[in-house]
Amino acid sequence: MKNINTGKKRSKNECTFAKSEIIELATNILKRGNVCNHCLGRQFAHVSTGMTNKERGAAIRTHLKKKENIKCEVCGDIFRKLDKYADAAAARMKKLEYSTFLVGTILSSELISEEESLWEDVGIEYCESIKSELNRELGKVIYDRVKKEHDPKMPDVTVILNLDKDRIELNVSSLFIRGEYNKFKRGLPQTKWDKYDETLEDVIAAPFMLATGGDGHSLHASGREDIDALCFGGRPFVLEIKNPVKRNIDLKKMAASVKKTGKAEILGLKFADRREVVKVKSMQNDKSYRALVEFAKPVKDIEKLGELNNTVINQRTPHRVEHRRADKVRKRKVLGISWKRINNKSFELLIKGEAGLYIKELVSGDDGRSKPSVSGLLKNPAVVKELDVVKIWK
Ligand SMILES: [Zn+2]
Repeated sequence: MKNINTGKKRSKNECTFAKSEIIELATNILKRGNVCNHCLGRQFAHVSTGMTNKERGAAIRTHLKKKENIKCEVCGDIFRKLDKYADAAAARMKKLEYSTFLVGTILSSELISEEESLWEDVGIEYCESIKSELNRELGKVIYDRVKKEHDPKMPDVTVILNLDKDRIELNVSSLFIRGEYNKFKRGLPQTKWDKYDETLEDVIAAPFMLATGGDGHSLHASGREDIDALCFGGRPFVLEIKNPVKRNIDLKKMAASVKKTGKAEILGLKFADRREVVKVKSMQNDKSYRALVEFAKPVKDIEKLGELNNTVINQRTPHRVEHRRADKVRKRKVLGISWKRINNKSFELLIKGEAGLYIKELVSGDDGRSKPSVSGLLKNPAVVKELDVVKIWK
């Protein structure tokens, strides 16, 4: 008997289709009813390598001197329809800009039960699943048409063969761009906030939406400044554009468009991927602030604030954010503080704080929830009138 294993692992793989066990199994499968070469060969996928299931099925059949029959009772001849599905997928992919793709299959309940019933009858010792064969075979015929790389990890486009609904679906991966932003307009929340019509995210995303034809966006940033605060420190972010039609966009043009609004600027733009979102969200940066502070009474002992230098502040979750943050006491250090007198009740404070230090509360004391504080130390109620992030230490 000829050894028909043509794979590279031939020396390791002593199994051949000529073994009596394989012949018996194949005979049993053929006795069950009509079966195509794909479905026959797939049951022996792990017996030999280096050939497709279809070739394997044909080889077994030749060996058993049996002809292939149509109307496969396992798959309903689904493999004959792959060209049609590939045409449909390629036509839709043509409208997109992408470099890589992946194929996934949603099986119909009939296919699942046919496969299970076959496995119950003949076992699963050497088999591959129909799902994995469909993914691979459809991937090959789509590749022939689109000539784009297959990427199982982070494809730009996922083609889904939905056999439950007998249709091709496309899942376009989001486009990710990382960079840093500065914010020049007060009263602009970073992301969606009920009371506000416009967000910083809208300002940044607008040119990207136009250029990519995407249908949604998300701004993932490393922390956020208050709605009324400006930022000059270059806050790291990743912008996500959902369902982009175009991906090869001119990032310099995007930055120029944002700058033109006068509300923000974006710097150091680079194409990124989903993994950067987690990275940027978990960054912990110390920050320097400029705070315009107004005191209730004239200040005579401002130099007392020097005591805050290198001091750990106990900050219980501020009143103003307690509805969305867990109530707990955070310990954050003031890394530096200096001041400039504007008049006897107004001072500009320059504060460098550890990541997560609440500046407004450091100044006001937040009804005793932040200790020590500017108000408490000077025994003079103080509030922040203007707050800007002047540097984000990276
Ligand atoms: Zn079949």
